[in-house]
Amino acid sequence: MNGKINMVDLHGQYLRIKDEIDAGINEVIDSTAFINGPAVRQFREALSRYMGGTDVITCANGTDALQIALMALGLKSGDEVIVPAFTYVSSAEVIALLGLTPVMVDVDPKTFNITVDNIRRGLTPRTKAVIPVHLFGQSCDMEPIMDFAAEHGLYIIEDNAQAIGAEYVFRDGHRARTGTMGHIGCTSFFPSKNLGCYGDGGAIFCKDEKLSAKIAMIANHGQSVKYHHSITGCNSRLDTIQAAILNVKLKHIDEYSDARRKAAAYYTAGLKNFDSDGEFFDTPFEMSDRSTHVWHQYTLKIKNGLRDALKAFLAERGIPSMIYYPLPLNEQEAFKGIARTGEKLIHSKECADSVLSLPMHTELTTAVQDEIMDGIESFFNRL
Ligand SMILES: *Cc1c(COP(=O)(O)O)cnc(C)c1O
Repeated sequence: MNGKINMVDLHGQYLRIKDEIDAGINEVIDSTAFINGPAVRQFREALSRYMGGTDVITCANGTDALQIALMALGLKSGDEVIVPAFTYVSSAEVIALLGLTPVMVDVDPKTFNITVDNIRRGLTPRTKAVIPVHLFGQSCDMEPIMDFAAEHGLYIIEDNAQAIGAEYVFRDGHRARTGTMGHIGCTSFFPSKNLGCYGDGGAIFCKDEKLSAKIAMIANHGQSVKYHHSITGCNSRLDTIQAAILNVKLKHIDEYSDARRKAAAYYTAGLKNFDSDGEFFDTPFEMSDRSTHVWHQYTLKIKNGLRDALKAFLAERGIPSMIYYPLPLNEQEAFKGIARTGEKLIHSKECADSVLSLPMHTELTTAVQDEIMDGIESFFNRL
């Protein structure tokens, strides 16, 4: 193989939709409708249809989406919000930023997601909300989580930044998109996300009309009538140029998810063939009866403390890999003295120490995947 291997290939993907993207961007520039132009409303409506009819409020990025969602719940200092310890920092950062207490709980070591049992262990009389994160593209088991939330009067804010397009399957067989099951759902259009723009962007999903109106107000300086501010808000907008790009890419989202699924199946078949009894690593666990997987990441768990050595070996061969995430949030300096963890978070630690994500994107070819897997096999064959 020649040519550089990338974790993601945004350029290759762009080339296939270049004409439409360029036309969309040029239209915005020609019209100079840079702020809240028609493309933003078009995107909001198209995304709402894709998400099964839920209200969509667009905003500046996924972290803002989470912050605005929390602001809309009207929580007070001392209120606790449960988050998984094994996730990206945003999910917990916004809780601390608003003066609330993040309560970090452990995750399921197979799915990397929080379960209702993890949430139960973090529950106190001060718990007001939970932020389940659908990590790496697979849904948390939401039905028991929603039942538990109803029983204890908790708000659920889904962090859907890594799983847009995935579907959860309820016990009675009906399906719902991730991001539309909780009271509020949040997502990010960061370029490398499954539905990414060419800069920053985010959105909030909400089915409750009143709450959704409040969210829209908060994102727009706390006003619904211009220059009349009834609550404290912020300025968080999706750029019109980014909306124009997203309008093109949204049409391809299912095709993109399929390409990722195909690539994931090819990795799993090849790697299981090599390490059939799981001596060296675990391939990703798929909760197929409960969730479709949109493979934001293809993440192995490397055994016997060899993760870092494997990563270095691959890098020497020009094969990139990434550690999402090397440090559980309860061990991050920023949250010392702010967050609460009730118990040892063994699985989060074990995940942080063993995970390795391989290149995963819509343009992967089997030839490149073969080269990546050859690299992995050579490493273990030399042991
Ligand atoms: C990317 C991401 C975010 C934040 O999105 P930004 O748009 O970068 O602010 C939040 N949560 C998770 C799980 C993410 O992966």
